[in-house]
Formats: sequence, C-alpha cells, structure tokens
Amino acid sequence: MQKGAILVLSGPSGAGKSTIINAASDEIGEYYFSISTTTRAPRVGEENGRDYFFVSKESFEEDIKAGNFLEYAQVHGNYYGTSLKPVRKALEEGKLVIFDIDVQGHRLVRAKMDDITTSAFITPPTLKALETRLRARSTDDESVIVNRIKNAKGEIKALGEYDFTIINDTVEEAARQFVIVAKAARLKQSEEDEEKFIAQWLANN
Ligand code: ADP
Ligand code: 5GP
Repeated sequence: MQKGAILVLSGPSGAGKSTIINAASDEIGEYYFSISTTTRAPRVGEENGRDYFFVSKESFEEDIKAGNFLEYAQVHGNYYGTSLKPVRKALEEGKLVIFDIDVQGHRLVRAKMDDITTSAFITPPTLKALETRLRARSTDDESVIVNRIKNAKGEIKALGEYDFTIINDTVEEAARQFVIVAKAARLKQSEEDEEKFIAQWLANN
C-alpha cells in the first residue's frame, strides 16, 4: 500500500546535510534526491545536473511563471527551487524523495504535501562549530561566509517546526540518526492510502 514519501532536510549552509546523506546513502534503501535549480554560481567541484541545475535568473523566472516549481525561495540573495515533475514521478514510483531545502521551502512543502512529509533539522552543535566548518570547507568567499552565518542565526529559530533535530557532532552518529529518520519517513502514509487501507481492512472480514 505504501506509495512514495518525502523527507525534508534543512539546516544552515555548512551544517553537514550533504555529508550526512552521503555517509548514510547505502543504508537507507532506494531513494531519489531532489536536485534543486539555483541561480547561484557553482562552487569549485560542483557539477551541473549532479549538485544543482545552475541557471540564469531569467530562466528561473520563466520556470516560476510556467508553474514548474513545487516550491521556490530566495536564499542568501539567490533563487533556489524544487522542480515538480521529477518529484511527482519518484513519488509515483514509490520512492523516498529527499529534499535539501531551506526553512521557507519546508513550510511550502508542508502546506502542499503535509501528509506524506517527514522533516529533520540538521545543525552543528554550536554557531562556532558552524563557522569553523564553513571556513574549513573553503568553498566560499569571506563575504559569503559572513552572510551564511548571519542567515543561520535566523534559521536555527525554525528548528521547532521540524519533526526531528539531528545534531551533527560526529558524522558517524549523525548518519546513524539520519538512517532512523529516513526509515520512519518511509512509513508515513498519505491520508488517501490510509482511507483505502481502512476500507480494505473492513471489507475483508
Ligand atoms: P551542507 O550540505 O549542509 O551545506 P556540508 O555537508 O557541505 O554541509 O558540510 C560542510 C563542511 O563541514 C564540509 O567541509 C564537511 O566536510 C564538514 N563537516 C560535515 N560534518 C562534519 C562533522 N561532523 N565534523 C566536522 N566537519 C564536518
Ligand atoms: P547552498 O548554496 O549552500 O547549496 O544552499 C543554500 C541554502 O539553500 C540551503 O539552506 C539549502 O537547503 C537551500 N536550498 C537548496 N535548494 C533549495 C530549494 O530547491 N528550495 C529551497 N527553498 N531551498 C533550497
């Protein structure tokens, strides 16, 4: 009876979301990672179509007009959005769909697909640790890092909106917790499926 389910991961940039997904990817079964579209420039090592679809502002705005996004938001001065089509397909195929999106995106997904959505907020143990990791990643200019830290101070306040909090102290422990959350997310049923199940359950007497 299970169709697809959604797992939203949010947390400040540099929280370790990509690291944790990679570390746990062999243990969470088949899933579809939603590749977002963004107008920000690729970082060194990032690939178009693997990390993001990197597009111009004009192209992004055309997609907004065409209704191609399940959700989109402006984060750190750039557009980021989730395309509807591949997500719909993955859900129809019964997959767990994982989103790495910001707190605004989480609210929009909740508003549209609450009944199949589970969410986790991922954060380093302290603001200081976040700062250290952003600098150690050395993928962003100083001004970008300062902006991300400023945003993180606002984002952390949304932690209570999420089903789970994962504190990324060590990657091993955070990945272990993430596996548990992903397994729980798979068990979430849509209201429609629950109603079908109840009808079948009652009919089979
Ligand atoms: P996000 O995807 O949330 O932006 P990343 O996965 O890119 O974050 O992690 C940010 C940086 O922190 C990377 O350089 C990563 O190697 C490092 N990192 C992630 N988790 C830990 C951890 N538990 N301890 C130390 N460094 C970490
Ligand atoms: P980064 O530039 O570090 O890759 O991402 C910056 C922020 O944008 C992160 O908080 C990330 O979760 C968020 N983000 C990435 N893709 C999307 C998306 O499609 N929609 C929304 N709302 N946020 C996104």
